[in-house]
Amino acid sequence: MNCRHCNTPLKHTFLDLGFAPPSNAYLTEADLNRPEIYYPLKIKVCDSCWLVQTEDYADADSLFTPEYAYFSSTSASWLDHAKRYSDQIIEWLALNRKSFVLEVASNDGYLLKNFVNAGIPCLGVEPTDSTAAAAEKLGVPVLCEFFGEVLGKRIAAEGKQADLIIGNNVYAHVPDINDFTRGLKAALKVGGTITLEFPHVMRLIEQAQFDTVYHEHFSYLSLHTVSRIFASVGLRTWNVEELPTHGGSLRVYGCHEDDARKTDQSVCVLLGQETACGLQKLNTYVDFQPRADKIKNDLLSFLIEEKQHGRKIVAYGAAAKGNTLLNYAGVKPDLIPFVCDAAPAKQGQFMPGSHIPILPPERLVQVKPDYVLILPWNISEEVSAQVSLLLSSETKFVTAVPKLHIQ
Ligand SMILES: [Zn+2]
Repeated sequence: MNCRHCNTPLKHTFLDLGFAPPSNAYLTEADLNRPEIYYPLKIKVCDSCWLVQTEDYADADSLFTPEYAYFSSTSASWLDHAKRYSDQIIEWLALNRKSFVLEVASNDGYLLKNFVNAGIPCLGVEPTDSTAAAAEKLGVPVLCEFFGEVLGKRIAAEGKQADLIIGNNVYAHVPDINDFTRGLKAALKVGGTITLEFPHVMRLIEQAQFDTVYHEHFSYLSLHTVSRIFASVGLRTWNVEELPTHGGSLRVYGCHEDDARKTDQSVCVLLGQETACGLQKLNTYVDFQPRADKIKNDLLSFLIEEKQHGRKIVAYGAAAKGNTLLNYAGVKPDLIPFVCDAAPAKQGQFMPGSHIPILPPERLVQVKPDYVLILPWNISEEVSAQVSLLLSSETKFVTAVPKLHIQ
């Protein structure tokens, strides 16, 4: 396989998690009597452009099924994050009724509703029917399609180039990152701004966040690599912010390469940090696997030992990263009998691979567990605050990444 961006042959493995089903392929009770498809979950790194990327195995269509269950609006902290971003960018770019905002992967409209409420014309692009339908109920217009160069050019041909193009947690999920970036270029108005948010591969490496690796996540991005991909289509990264979301993300600001805005110092500073962190050195990537293995082994030892002492452990948060962790560790319902999740769409279903049932949080009241393993460690504070109301004061919270932590 060659690099998805620069076409250099990929020779180096960053992480090999064996085989796993897609992390968002939640199962119904009937599915438990059917075969389950496992795909290799192997991540390579390009030693030319340093794009960290999933090895090829399947197309995006088979992963983003109409039942795709993730609705952004179920996370309160994510809604707050979206509101703060909207308020800030509307003011900063002086957006108004004459502006046009395009959001790629608009999900259930959790973000664009802020623009609708401010009277700013907008359009969402969202290939998943169920979430797109939820957005339209909020008054957010949605094109139910995949975004890429063809759609970007069509938007331009219809005279709808955008003053602002937003892509939150989509850039890492697109299989053809070059085509997607050409789409951004085509759909951007002269003087317009692109903002993309994605988990920062520097944080993934620093904090051993190997559970953020899953099939739907095709790329693991640095500012260095994104700037390079932007430049290849005539875009420029002119500003960057570090965000605490998803364990450490970047918000990259793009514009046409000949835009009048000067490149902010933040870009140069962060590129320097990435270099200091070794992101342009092969050893940084090939030395990652043993750190993931230690986290897996420490979690397994804990689960087995506590079970042998007769203690009850359940999990909270049926998130994609939880599936990566549990499937790599080979955890089944004998060690974790159920996982609670606040999203009604997931309740009554089963975790892919592990087949652990997903139940409403209220079940914690009856079970009185000794430990609650919080799978989405990035929102562990929010979860523990919500869930402690349902628990006795003796229950302890556990997170597995970056290392086993019990409190
Ligand atoms: Zn490359």
